[in-house]
Amino acid sequence: MCGGSLTPFERAVRDILDRVSLVQVVSDYVQLKKTGRTYKGLCPFHSEKTPSFNVNEEKGLFYCFGCQVGGNAVTFLEKAAGLSRIEALRRLSAMTGIPLPEERSVVDPAEEARRQERSELLKALQVAHEFFVDRLQSPGGAIAREYLASRKVPPEVARTYGLGFGGARPMELVAALERRHVSLRHAEAAGLIVRTSLGWQERFHGRLVCPVYNLDGAVVAFSARLIPPDENGPKYINSPETLVFRKGETLFGLYQARTAIRQQHGAILVEGNFDVLSLAAVGVGNVVAPMGTALTADQVRLLARFSDSVTVMFDGDEAGRKASRRAVGPLIEAGLDGRIASLPEGEDPDSLARAQGAKGVREVVSRARPMFLYLVDSLVKIHGWTPHGRRAVVDEVRDVLALERDAARHAIYQEELARLLQIDAAEIRRLLRKAGEPVTTPSAHLADCPEPERRLLELMLLHPELIGRFLDEGDAALLTHPEVRDLYAELCGLASTPGVDPIAAFVERGDVKSRLRAMVCRVLATPEKYPLDPDTEFRSAMRDLKVAALKRQLEALVATGDEDEDLRRVLQRTELKNQINRLLADKAAV
Ligand SMILES: [Zn+2]
Repeated sequence: MCGGSLTPFERAVRDILDRVSLVQVVSDYVQLKKTGRTYKGLCPFHSEKTPSFNVNEEKGLFYCFGCQVGGNAVTFLEKAAGLSRIEALRRLSAMTGIPLPEERSVVDPAEEARRQERSELLKALQVAHEFFVDRLQSPGGAIAREYLASRKVPPEVARTYGLGFGGARPMELVAALERRHVSLRHAEAAGLIVRTSLGWQERFHGRLVCPVYNLDGAVVAFSARLIPPDENGPKYINSPETLVFRKGETLFGLYQARTAIRQQHGAILVEGNFDVLSLAAVGVGNVVAPMGTALTADQVRLLARFSDSVTVMFDGDEAGRKASRRAVGPLIEAGLDGRIASLPEGEDPDSLARAQGAKGVREVVSRARPMFLYLVDSLVKIHGWTPHGRRAVVDEVRDVLALERDAARHAIYQEELARLLQIDAAEIRRLLRKAGEPVTTPSAHLADCPEPERRLLELMLLHPELIGRFLDEGDAALLTHPEVRDLYAELCGLASTPGVDPIAAFVERGDVKSRLRAMVCRVLATPEKYPLDPDTEFRSAMRDLKVAALKRQLEALVATGDEDEDLRRVLQRTELKNQINRLLADKAAV
């Protein structure tokens, strides 16, 4: 078992988890509301519209009833921020100010090298960003400042979004990087410079630079625009994908917009970075843009952490309308309630904001149509209201509907499609049958576990003092379910370590079977679901367990009994029956 004292590393982990506020950690990703003794919010790990994600601040544990994921602050950061265990611990160590000693056994050399590389890249990007911001204010940055003024982007918006200028003269950035001891190899890996036959070239030189932040507020990439009248090269240049930047998993402006998105219970999705800046300039802050790519389900899932409602407001041209239709699939796939706003031909959010201000933008948003209606309507316009046309619409919609994993919504969409196309509902169902069957998630509950064993276990998790009492008053043999027995043995071992909360230690241990961990977290994240009088509950569960054990003995006796059964067995049986009756009478009397 796990007796003995903790290593300095384990003790630090223990202290960090004791000190850290899980609510604070989670709130960077999920909007939490206090309900009773726990906090609730929309799960960041699966898409949902009613909150089933619970946080127990006191115990430092979370659990989602929807996808059955649970754990502590470390587990949360591993999943939500994509950190390794040691990276998550390092971040929590920084949050709490409790230093984390090195532990040889937990440092995987490959992972350590990757972490080191990431941190070098982030440093290179940060140094470059400071340089760009500085250049925007320099005399050479006048051309960029004038351009921003011409696009009506005020200095305070430029500051909020960290805008910069790539420098008037080439090789200035390289010099700045070298002054700050950033190796050019790392600058190259971060996408800042490119090696050519003529030597190093700066990727963003002479351009207006928009930094792209991750949700930690670190700059992970840049998107740089040509400044008129220069017409050399493409209008926008983005950072390449790197160790710290994946285009399809990043949204421009999300770091700045997330508070507004939460407060306004909705996000506006626009095509370009300047749409984001122009809307921010007129006071509409809940706006993000995909990174110059077609919208991906990963980007929508990122957004869904902050709101379940999104209004797509792309440009009023053919490309914008096509992109709007293509956005419906990812929105459905991520389980979001999407709406599509249509702008008049030739308008874009930037021109709308400049001409009509925040009021005009909000009006367009309020007129946005539910995404599925929009999709079907615009496909009918394209294919025409003919038998061939309507059939073509069904074919195009099939792939989109296959992405809907909620069976009820899937059925509703089918009905809507039948109504909109005036095709018999049964026929639509038949035509759509090729679509993937809606998925249901399996339950991670210990379904096959006898009820009193489950009850006893949940009691012990909520009241760890009962772990020892169970041994005093009962017998481990009362537990028949293998996983319950494993869990109990584990808890006993942890309970014997002085100064350690056995439950917290159990959740913290990496080697725990995840189904057990999920169960522990489910119980602990929602203590209000359990009775408040542990003593009565404990005695009742013990009685039920003993009755169950006696009944098993009795059954075994009956099964092996035969005709020449001796008196001893008859007496044994009677005695077992009496014991069972006494226990049951006891229970009835309570
Ligand atoms: Zn979930």
